[in-house]
Amino acid sequence: MTRIDDLPLRDELRGMSPYGAPQLDVPVRLNTNENPFPVPEALVRLIADRVSDAARTLNRYPDRDAVVLRTQLAGYLTRTTGYQVGPHQVWAANGSNEIIQQLLQAFGGPGRTAIGFDPSYSMHSLISRGTGTGWISGPRNEHFGIDREAAVAAIHEHRPEVVFVCSPNNPTGTAVEAETVLALYEAAQAARPERGALVVVDEAYAEFSHRPSLLPLIEGRPTLVLTRTMSKAFGAAGLRLGYLAADPAVVEAVLLVRLPYHLSAVTQATAHAALEFADTLLGYVDELKAERDRLVTELREIGCEVTESDANFVQFGRFEDPKDVWRRLLDHGVLVRDNGVPGRLRVSCGTREENDTFLDAVRAVMKEISE
Ligand SMILES: *Cc1c(COP(=O)(O)O)cnc(C)c1O
Repeated sequence: MTRIDDLPLRDELRGMSPYGAPQLDVPVRLNTNENPFPVPEALVRLIADRVSDAARTLNRYPDRDAVVLRTQLAGYLTRTTGYQVGPHQVWAANGSNEIIQQLLQAFGGPGRTAIGFDPSYSMHSLISRGTGTGWISGPRNEHFGIDREAAVAAIHEHRPEVVFVCSPNNPTGTAVEAETVLALYEAAQAARPERGALVVVDEAYAEFSHRPSLLPLIEGRPTLVLTRTMSKAFGAAGLRLGYLAADPAVVEAVLLVRLPYHLSAVTQATAHAALEFADTLLGYVDELKAERDRLVTELREIGCEVTESDANFVQFGRFEDPKDVWRRLLDHGVLVRDNGVPGRLRVSCGTREENDTFLDAVRAVMKEISE
């Protein structure tokens, strides 16, 4: 049998593990921050119609630049944030992970580095490595916020070409203040006076936040990029659609590395239909925010230490052996996420019933481990 190590694999990939949130068949799955509500029937029918239309011209390549979709996404951003963006400032791809990959292909790569502030979204470092970009793990404070001074110092020390800021941050749920993003942006530009450095603000969970979007910060800052996704608030993780908003020059740059016709006609048609249902889909967001706040309150009542959350998930602990607690919750039929944060686990917001089952399971497990 051939083992992966026997292959002529790139050195920097040796010994790495693939992204691997377990996809287990469990009654209550609260481990990947998906929206628990199924797609409304009326939208299912609209998607079926639109996909049928698209099917009639599948002999042709799709619109390579997804102009209609980008116009719709720009409209959505403008409408929900009050900050005006146009289609030339928006770019779409198969999930925001592909957006991040395209950004790193264009602005990272061999001989360059990216920094993130850990614990944060593991794909920032994984995609960096996958694109040959060096990875620097920057610090967070004890409350899982970004320590502004320490972060600025790390940027001055390492002079990265790309800086990742995740707000609200996955897996901790912590939002980042606009002043912090600005401080990091200034530091990143100062550290690379020639052409500056790219600052990527990953707003995958923006719709769940108590705070306004950081989108207006792109104004007059040509190397500040905001990324978004339809996987979370829109409840369309299976669609695979992510997008960015930035200076039009950044969009021009990613055009250099994107694969031709990367967004299939079926994806574009489906995303188009989903965006027409934005108001309905986002109607669930308020419900999920209320459930998130309830999870925080009830977990604290149970005696857990809970990190403030601006997202649709909650980080909780503190456990001597989080792996053991993870396994015990699974025995109670509830799948949560162990992101490797010491003493902590992460639970995604489910439906009210799912959250009740989860909370009951936590109570039961706390009792088991105290015995
Ligand atoms: C879920 C998530 C994404 C979304 O990835 P997609 O490829 O759009 O599904 C991006 N960033 C963060 C921080 C996430 O948690």
